[in-house]
Amino acid sequence: MKDKVINIASNNDEYTLEIKERLINLLRKNGYDYCDGFSKHGELNITIGGDGAFLRGVRESNFSTIPFVGINTGTLGFYPEITPEKLEAFIFDYISGNYNINSMNLIESEVFSSEKSKKFYAVNDIILKRKDMKTIHMDVYIASNHLEKISGDGLIISSPLGSSAYNKSAGGSLVYPSLKTLQITPLSPIISNAYRCLDCSIIVPPEFEISIYPEGREDYHVALLADGTDIEYEELEHVHFRTSKKVIKRLSTGSFNYWNVIKDKFL
Ligand code: NAP
Ligand code: MN
Repeated sequence: MKDKVINIASNNDEYTLEIKERLINLLRKNGYDYCDGFSKHGELNITIGGDGAFLRGVRESNFSTIPFVGINTGTLGFYPEITPEKLEAFIFDYISGNYNINSMNLIESEVFSSEKSKKFYAVNDIILKRKDMKTIHMDVYIASNHLEKISGDGLIISSPLGSSAYNKSAGGSLVYPSLKTLQITPLSPIISNAYRCLDCSIIVPPEFEISIYPEGREDYHVALLADGTDIEYEELEHVHFRTSKKVIKRLSTGSFNYWNVIKDKFL
C-alpha cells in the first residue's frame, strides 16, 4: 500500500524548520509520507509559521478544499491552533480521528475591465488603495443601490475571520465566524463640507453584492491586496465583492473557542 501523504507549507525561520523536522519524523513514525508544499494527493495541509504562513499555504494550494491546520511558530498566530509543545498530541488526535472540520466561505472579488472580468479570492480581506497613495474617490453600491462616494485612503473588505486583522486596526468590528458577512471598512474617510461619507464600517449579509467604482481618471492606478498579496490585473473599471460559495476547511482538535482566542491574542 502506498503511504498516505500530508502536505507541509512552512516559512524558513530557523525555529520553524526545527519544528518541521520534528513533524516529518513524527509523520514517518506513523506511516505517513509528506510533500513539501502542496500536492492534490495530500489528505491534510499543515502550515508551520504564523498567520502569514497559513494564508500563503492556502493561496499556494489555490484554495484547495483539503483541510488546513497550522502549527504556530509565528508572532501572533490567530489561525494556527497547534502549539509546538502539542505536536505529538495533535498527531495522536489526528490519527484517532479526534477532530472536527469547519468550513469558511472565502471572499470573492470579480475585477471588471470594459471587456472581461476575472475572479480572485481571499481568506481575510481585500484592500483597495491607490498605488500612488493619494486620496482615492470611489462610488460604493450595495445590491446595485448607490450608497455613497467614499473619499480617503481606501477601504477594506473583510470576512468574519479576517475581521480581527487589518479591519480591527482600522476601527471595524469583530464578527463571529459562523456569520457569513462581508464588512466594508473605510480607511481614513474624509468627512468635510467638501467630501461626505460614512465614517463607520458596514456589515453586509451574503445575499448582497458590493460594487466599487473608483473614479475613472487616467492617473488612477488601483492596488488590490488579497490577504497581503498583490492581485495582478490588466485593467480595472469596477470590482464586485461577494461572499463566495467556495470554502476552505479548517481542521480543529479539541475546543476552538473564538472568545478565548480573542482574549488570548489581543487582551
Ligand atoms: P503581517 O504584516 O505579518 O500581518 C500583520 C499582523 O496581522 C500579523 O501579526 C498577523 O499574524 C496578523 N493577522 C493576520 N491575519 C489575522 C487574523 N485573521 N486575525 C488577527 N490577526 C491576524 O502579514 P501576513 O502575516 O501576511 O498577514 C496578512 C494580513 O495582514 C492581511 O490580511 C491584513 O489583514 C493584515 N494587515 C494588517 C495591517 C494593520 O493592522 N494595520 C496592515 C496591513 C495588513 P502573524 O504575526 O501570526 O503573521
Ligand atoms: Mn505575518
